[in-house]
Amino acid sequence: MTDTKFPRHPPTGISVIVVGAGFAGLAAAIECDRKGHSVTLLEKVPSISEITAIGDIISFDPNGSVAFARWPGVIDAMEAIARQTKHLDLYHHEGAFVTRQSFAHETAWGRRINGHRGQLHDIIYRHAVARGTIDIRLGQRVEDYFETDDPPQAGVVANGARLVADVVIAAEGVRSRGRKIVLGFDENPKSSGYAVYRAWFPSDEVAKNPLLAPLVVNGDTHQGFIGPDIHFLCSSIKGGKEVNWVFTHIDDGNIEESWQFPGKPEEALTYLDGWCPIVRELVKATPPGRLIDHKLVYRDPLPTFISPRARIALIGDSAHPFLPTSIQGASQSIEDGVVLASCLERSGRADIPRALRAYEKLRYARVHRAQAMGPQTRERWHKADWTKVWKNPELIHLVREPWLLNFDAEKDAYDRYDEVVAELDADHKARL
Ligand SMILES: Cc1cc2nc3c(=O)[nH]c(=O)nc-3n(C[C@H](O)[C@H](O)[C@H](O)COP(=O)(O)OP(=O)(O)OC[C@H]3O[C@@H](n4cnc5c(N)ncnc54)[C@H](O)[C@@H]3O)c2cc1C
Repeated sequence: MTDTKFPRHPPTGISVIVVGAGFAGLAAAIECDRKGHSVTLLEKVPSISEITAIGDIISFDPNGSVAFARWPGVIDAMEAIARQTKHLDLYHHEGAFVTRQSFAHETAWGRRINGHRGQLHDIIYRHAVARGTIDIRLGQRVEDYFETDDPPQAGVVANGARLVADVVIAAEGVRSRGRKIVLGFDENPKSSGYAVYRAWFPSDEVAKNPLLAPLVVNGDTHQGFIGPDIHFLCSSIKGGKEVNWVFTHIDDGNIEESWQFPGKPEEALTYLDGWCPIVRELVKATPPGRLIDHKLVYRDPLPTFISPRARIALIGDSAHPFLPTSIQGASQSIEDGVVLASCLERSGRADIPRALRAYEKLRYARVHRAQAMGPQTRERWHKADWTKVWKNPELIHLVREPWLLNFDAEKDAYDRYDEVVAELDADHKARL
């Protein structure tokens, strides 16, 4: 490692273009930089505030935050603005308390960071800039991807100009163009059949409402209310000074996928007939302009994450959009970048396709196993058999599995790289 403020492994000579500066793209860019690759990061928005000003609650579990802990200063900055809770209180939608799920034992696995998506994103973006070695270009909309055998390279067309590198990482989110070249056909995300109302706002008015005050006056809190086909989660953050809520409901299909589509509290309330006053009051307390109506898109697992010549890799939501009930979309997008950067380091510049194939093999089963947990948790809540739940409240606890959460993707990639490459080589020989 070089002895600087931001240590880097020795230069590998590998040039990388990363498309998209969301969590996946930033993590890939930072990890590639850390591991000695030379990185150009292209993001379509001309000013990063266009994306860091948007969003509400996002969650990183220990398997995602373990990477942040390796980026000097990042995890502490994140934790300073993250929710300070160690349990989730779950209620029946008519108001009766059901169970408290503790996460205290998970501190042994690493840190959980739950906070404002835009603010957390801003911390990571500023870290990427501060490193000083990543070529970050905003206002660059990638229109096309290509890869060639002679010379062996990949590239993009951005704002009409061609850029080439040894490898391209497509991290453009659910509406990825890179997916077309990887799959060989255009494939649009489909509706999950669900949508989410989401809100985040200062808690001053909430604190004045006697019914709602307990949510915010004693520091941070975290509650869930479970009803038929709907779950409602709310929390307070920054010592109770800000409050957020989200609820997932069956989608009538009338909204476009967007993080900025405005919602109306009176429309949200129509889904909450018969729900307890605390939930309804919190929705009513949402200030104008603070409610988003977000359609949840989903996609069946892609057959592959890498292009035919194995020079372009999909990561993050481009490769695998998650439902919020998995609570893993953001963490998995971080793992992707960590693993890809590690594989490139191990392969060296001479064998980049091998690195991408190893990346896919290391990620594919794990990502899809994690992805499948989203619908499982949703069904566990939305279709709860209350006769059974009252006898055994743990039936509605979030599933928190050590294989998923107590996991260091970098260590796993380094440990298993040789084994995975040997398997790939054996598969290749068997096919000849
Ligand atoms: C504005 C916004 C707000 C969000 N808010 C929340 C939230 O509140 N809670 C939550 O759980 N999740 C939220 N998400 C989703 C969440 O961030 C992702 O599901 C997860 O972090 C995986 O991120 P990703 O980097 O794969 O994709 P994304 O976060 O979608 O990032 C993709 C990036 O690629 C850029 N991009 C897209 N196309 C191109 C192109 N052609 N050329 C160049 N750049 C391109 C986009 O501008 C974006 O910065 C939000 C996403 C966005 C974009």
